[in-house]
Amino acid sequence: MEIEDTLLMMPGPVPVAPRVLRAMSKPMINHRGAEFSAMYDDCCEVLADVFQTKNDIFILSGSGTAAMEAAVACTVGPEDTVVALENGKFGERFKDIIARYGKVNPLENEWGHSFDLEEVEKKLEEGAEAITLVHNETSTGIQNPAKEIGKLAKKHDALFIMDGVTTLGGDTVMTDDWGVDVAVVGSQKCLAAPPGLSMISVSERAFEAMEKKDSLPYYLDLKAYKKSGGKSQTPYTPAVPLFFGLQEALHIVKEEGMDARINRHATGAKAIRAAADAMGIEMFPQLNDDNSHYSNTVTAMKAPEGVSGNDIKKDMIARGITIAGGQAHLSGKIFRIGSMGNVQPKDIMLTIQELEVVLK
Ligand code: PLP
Repeated sequence: MEIEDTLLMMPGPVPVAPRVLRAMSKPMINHRGAEFSAMYDDCCEVLADVFQTKNDIFILSGSGTAAMEAAVACTVGPEDTVVALENGKFGERFKDIIARYGKVNPLENEWGHSFDLEEVEKKLEEGAEAITLVHNETSTGIQNPAKEIGKLAKKHDALFIMDGVTTLGGDTVMTDDWGVDVAVVGSQKCLAAPPGLSMISVSERAFEAMEKKDSLPYYLDLKAYKKSGGKSQTPYTPAVPLFFGLQEALHIVKEEGMDARINRHATGAKAIRAAADAMGIEMFPQLNDDNSHYSNTVTAMKAPEGVSGNDIKKDMIARGITIAGGQAHLSGKIFRIGSMGNVQPKDIMLTIQELEVVLK
């Protein structure tokens, strides 16, 4: 099968628009010149709307995990304790990153199960300098209650570090209103840019935490990013072709408007859930109260009795639609359909139609 014939309905990377691909083939420019600075500022302006923040935003050459590591490495020291909320693979990743830089006090839920806010608060009462949350747990299709966790973080004077990798650009994220000190996103998800860049917003409070640290990482030093960001540059040579692609992808975000974009994502995911229901397929997330929701960008479903989720994925790929299976111990047990970025209703309809054939 030709690559062009394959529809990516996985939770990133997602299809990028032809105009984004074309933008990436432009000749190189001087990354210390005015043209690059104008592009950097243009990107940051749209990103401020996506993040809903007045905080500093930086663009890192490195995938979402680089931004997760920058967030932790710059704000957490060996004496600091961080409550790491885990109910999927990326919550686990935050926990593992924290363990390299400070002390972890994890709240480990079964993957896909929503958090009990009272349990979260108990963890914070044990004393913590920060708390990490994955807003949309891509591995399990659950959307965690960022606003409520933000309130608890504020009450207990802990920095709130949030992974918005699969919500920013596709769902509501109110960085300032929710009190998110550091929020991160990857380029290849809801923003529909090519993989390889990540974006991070950083509050004054997070910078104050950095001031108290004995040492900061070198390449991922956010203070260095702030210094260069003031000049609309990056501290080290950026991935210029990816910036071209990101800028064009962000123009598409701006043209569509965030409200319409969020609405389109929500409608698409709802259609997938309705179709699954009609086919007798159960959702994977276990929502135990009203604070958590099914994701609006990736739908995780239980494989039917006696069928492997990996076989469903294989059969869908053979029919030209790339979906995702389960990660780690969920391999075979679930399958996931991404509906993020510029995915259109016709793509969702086709995916549902083919899924029906595969499951027959
Ligand atoms: N966080 C979440 C919620 C993700 O979905 C992903 C990737 O799928 C990551 C972090 C890691 O991002 P990357 O693969 O770009 O490093």
